[in-house]
Amino acid sequence: MRTHTCGELREKNSGENVTLQGWIDAIRDHGKMVFISLRDRYGVTQVVLANTELIEKASEFGGEYVVQVEGMVRERPSGMRNLSLDTGGIEVVASQMKLLSPSDVPPFVIKDPITAKDELRMKYRYLDLRRPSMQKKLLMRSQLINTVRTYLSERNFLEIETPYLTLTTTEGARNFVVPSRNFNGKFYSLAQSPQIYKQLLMIAGVDRYFQFARCFRDEDQRADRQPEHTQIDLEASFVDEDDIMNLVEGMISAVFENILGIKIRAPFERLTYRNAMEKYGSDKPDARFDVYISDVTDIAKKSEFRIFKEAKFIKAITVPPLTRKNIDELSEFALKYYNSKISYLSFRETLSGNVAKFFSPELSGELKSALSISGEKTVLFCAGDWKRSLETLGAVRNKILVGETPKEQYKLLWVTDFPLFEWDGETGGWMPCHHIFTMPKTDDFVDPSKVTGKQYDLVLNGTELGSGSIRIHDRVLQEKMMEIGGMSKEKRDREFGFFLSALTYGAPPHGGIAIGLDRLLMILSGENSIQEVIPFPKTLTGTGLMENVPSEIEDEKLKELGISITQNR
Ligand code: ASP
Repeated sequence: MRTHTCGELREKNSGENVTLQGWIDAIRDHGKMVFISLRDRYGVTQVVLANTELIEKASEFGGEYVVQVEGMVRERPSGMRNLSLDTGGIEVVASQMKLLSPSDVPPFVIKDPITAKDELRMKYRYLDLRRPSMQKKLLMRSQLINTVRTYLSERNFLEIETPYLTLTTTEGARNFVVPSRNFNGKFYSLAQSPQIYKQLLMIAGVDRYFQFARCFRDEDQRADRQPEHTQIDLEASFVDEDDIMNLVEGMISAVFENILGIKIRAPFERLTYRNAMEKYGSDKPDARFDVYISDVTDIAKKSEFRIFKEAKFIKAITVPPLTRKNIDELSEFALKYYNSKISYLSFRETLSGNVAKFFSPELSGELKSALSISGEKTVLFCAGDWKRSLETLGAVRNKILVGETPKEQYKLLWVTDFPLFEWDGETGGWMPCHHIFTMPKTDDFVDPSKVTGKQYDLVLNGTELGSGSIRIHDRVLQEKMMEIGGMSKEKRDREFGFFLSALTYGAPPHGGIAIGLDRLLMILSGENSIQEVIPFPKTLTGTGLMENVPSEIEDEKLKELGISITQNR
């Protein structure tokens, strides 16, 4: 129906007769002449109406009307070029114009940058998506998928789908459930990830699998969480950790190159979980900044400050001088979110800070040289157990660094050697840190806190992009790990019986990873929330404002499912 898109015409097309179709982005009435900016996914072209009949017709049109324009391309006089448009060197002088579809007045102006509130954007997502910046992200999403698909297909990976309607898996979140009509009282769970299926595919001899998998997790929403998200999920047989890490480094490099035209350095830095925590106070450190945490236990214990004297660990972070107000805010934050107290010393002309009086000049000198302090600096301390004191300072570090200019734009790294189990004070048992299928690095399980796993997390600019591991391929070991993780034999057999049995029929050594596609795209497109890169996202409370979900269903349907609602929230 059209000869060109609205982003296509250039000076070289001058003199050609063309037909364009698109949305009216703007109409400017200059009396004898009317200018229409015609928009589609590819760009905006200026259309000139110079005869009275067309001008009359256009007076009935408004923004977002869909029209067809026929006319001749002409070069714009040099002073009239619009350098901000790719088509800015030309305009189309209309000879005919046809209305294809009118539009009601949209609830917000469809322009970048958007001023409408998020709720309105979500309710009319199809209008929000018309904005050029949103179209660009949809394009990027598609390019990202194509790059990954090509990269993996070229390396013998088969793209295979796995069921969404399945049983409860163990990715650590709650499952969304789907009631069965044929078996009242029974439920499917929506897959939290294809974990078990991809392992079964390895047992099935597929050797190399990938999938752009939708994962459903019913958890409390945060800025980088959604009830459904997409993972680049992959698994391979006869591999070790290095094989998967090298493969992923190549894949991520191809993505950066194809999408941003940026070459990134591989291999990526590798940090053990312990080192990441000790250095950055986080298992997903933002290593674009040279600000590190130090252990000052031995020195600070010599001070007269009672809390330090009694503490097991005292960690410190040295930062450019902070104001009293900054410190109060950080202390409040640490108390609220980490239930931890922050103390501080300010090295200026004189020593100040809430613990200054407990430090003799010799001791503060010793600290200063241990922390290699030169010039004016503030040292923030957190005393307590190992994990909490580090996590507190890690979070404080991130807060201080917000808005600072990083020394590099993208920093990718691996975190390895995670502990497999963590003591859960609430249940009084050991909980798997990742999932229960990760291969342990030792066969001595006397103290589960000491067992690390063949696990690797990929981190980009302080965001966990993905997590993977080499898997257990032996039934006895798999059952042992389930047992340590507190899973009863009955639950093991009921939920994982089929999988445990599969492990007994020649399971090859295998491993894999899943990378959050939305998170990766969020960072590539410079956004702060995955809502911005998911075509039809939910709000933070898991609501779809456009289609109004979750919603009630008819009594008739409830009856079919054998469900009665006893409580509405
Ligand atoms: N299934 C895991 C997850 O979704 C990733 C993996 O181990 O491959 O976190």
